[in-house]
Amino acid sequence: MRLTFLGTGTSFGIPVPGCRCAVCTSDDPRNRRTRHGLLLEDGGRKLLVDTPPELRLQLVAASVDRLDAVFITHAHADHVHGIDDLRAFTTRAGYRLPVFLASEYEQELRTRFAYFWGTDARSSPGTTVPGLDLVTFEDRDRLEVAGMELDVVAFPHGWFRSYGFRVGDLAVIVDAKEIPDDAVPLLRGVRVLVINALWYGHPHPTHFNVEEAVEVSRRLEAGTTYLTHLTHRLDHADLEERLPAGVKPASDGLTIEI
Ligand SMILES: [Zn+2]
Ligand SMILES: [Zn+2]
Ligand SMILES: [Zn+2]
Repeated sequence: MRLTFLGTGTSFGIPVPGCRCAVCTSDDPRNRRTRHGLLLEDGGRKLLVDTPPELRLQLVAASVDRLDAVFITHAHADHVHGIDDLRAFTTRAGYRLPVFLASEYEQELRTRFAYFWGTDARSSPGTTVPGLDLVTFEDRDRLEVAGMELDVVAFPHGWFRSYGFRVGDLAVIVDAKEIPDDAVPLLRGVRVLVINALWYGHPHPTHFNVEEAVEVSRRLEAGTTYLTHLTHRLDHADLEERLPAGVKPASDGLTIEI
């Protein structure tokens, strides 16, 4: 399986508009981070995780010409608001794409994207809307997605819940603040862990900081751990030096084989 980090920034992205901090003005390309997105490829099939605002740019950068399915972690804008860019695939190739979403977010996204998911969705003659079939799931479901078997876990995320999964030797956890105790056996021992981390220091109410993410990596006895959903308070090179062995910062465009 191949994993490509399409976007590794927190909801503001980096550089943050108007910010003149050292990271936002850095020359290191690894300090430029678009909003969260991942691509998983296995057996020639492609699964996109999240549809962030920069989705078109990410798909072009990663030379993606087709997708087989999409998994949405939760309904926050930084994970969803690029969804219209999927129209390029479904219009050109004339196929419909399954979009997997937790049932608790179905109504919210049908309302927000009523022009293609609403009850009277339609497009004017000669125009197109994304051809997306919503498929809902529940916490702890096992899903067959693009030929991959995903074990889904809901993670507390402040007042909300963000959904991640284990697939083979990989676990993906984004926008989590807590790992439910009863999910630990399911996630333990993965060779690769992708997990969200905002910064060093004071705890955030809805996201792990770096210290908490490292602690989760230990608790899950994970192999290599990649931190994502990073803020401009973290400089890539600096983070690389400070992190313990086995924990690394992800960066946009980074590809790994699992
Ligand atoms: Zn987010
Ligand atoms: Zn900044
Ligand atoms: Zn979120």
